[in-house]
Amino acid sequence: MRTRASVVTALGAGFTIEELEVDEPIGREVLIEVKASGLCHSDLHAATTGLGVPFPAVLGHEVAGIVLAVGPETTGIVPGQHVVASLVQFCGECAACRTDRTFQCTDPAATVRRPDQPPRLRRPDGTAVVSAFGTGGFAGLTLAHENQVVPVPDDLPFPVAAILGCATITGAGAAIHSADVRVGDSVAVIGLGGVGLNVISGARLAGATTIVAIDAQEEKLALARRFGATHVVHADGEQDVVAAVHQLTGGGVDHAFEVIGLAATTQDAIRMTRVGGDTNLIGIHRPGSTIAVDPGDLLISQRTIRGIYMGSSNIKADIPRYARLYQQGRLNLDDLIAREIALDDVADAYEELRTGTTARSVITDFAAR
Ligand SMILES: [Zn+2]
Ligand SMILES: [Zn+2]
Repeated sequence: MRTRASVVTALGAGFTIEELEVDEPIGREVLIEVKASGLCHSDLHAATTGLGVPFPAVLGHEVAGIVLAVGPETTGIVPGQHVVASLVQFCGECAACRTDRTFQCTDPAATVRRPDQPPRLRRPDGTAVVSAFGTGGFAGLTLAHENQVVPVPDDLPFPVAAILGCATITGAGAAIHSADVRVGDSVAVIGLGGVGLNVISGARLAGATTIVAIDAQEEKLALARRFGATHVVHADGEQDVVAAVHQLTGGGVDHAFEVIGLAATTQDAIRMTRVGGDTNLIGIHRPGSTIAVDPGDLLISQRTIRGIYMGSSNIKADIPRYARLYQQGRLNLDDLIAREIALDDVADAYEELRTGTTARSVITDFAAR
């Protein structure tokens, strides 16, 4: 089958529309007609700094759509179902998977085709194109392993469903699962993009009573209040953000979340926790970057620094859970979607995301212009 796709031909080469051939689903693969595909910051990282993705590649890992066909060994997904495809790749067989830690799977490559099998995507001239993260969502059609595919209610809007696949499980999961926020806890969130706003949602769902939202852009602070922030701190370069958080919380927060991926804001996050508090690293740092930590100080202050992957989420359980919370009016996803765009607009939309003014753009139009 043919599909239009937004292809990154080489590192730093940007996004180009191409017609690609999609193979038939084999094994436990699911063929999805993509109805919505979110533009996550990680795709921009992959396109510009690598993240280990080989090129040419179709990026995109916040995918919602309708199942068109399934491979002969697929057991849990059927044609016609509305689904989310997520980048959490897990084998289902390893020790981590068998103990409900699919986000720590030791054999994620089990979800993609082996080198001796035909590629999922190829150009008309036969060149293989990588379907990145096993989702390849910047295309009208995609193949994904059924472990990465989760059914969602038919009446869930596709743009909302797409965001569940990365921003929500990453952000809300970080608060609920990884940091284990409890009723009455205090939380600070640095960086209020799609993921940061979902950290606020997760903290609110978990019962945090003080949620401090921090960003350099004032318009994002107003947005954060709609997700449940109880206080906001404008990181305008004028005021001492760490001192402001200590003052608001009487000695620091229980949990700080860094959702930008910068050394300076990571240091701030550590310093704004209370004695015994934890700092949760979500933002993606530039490859090779480091931060200085005084281990003696960590020990005396009993502080924890935690690296988090995908909000420690088991997608098969968590995505339906968030869908229900949204439908009950308890999880704000509508305000995450800044606008719906066409596949041809990916490059422009990422330029806007780079300058940091929008929460999430979601592709909902895959047709040729
Ligand atoms: Zn993402
Ligand atoms: Zn596994």
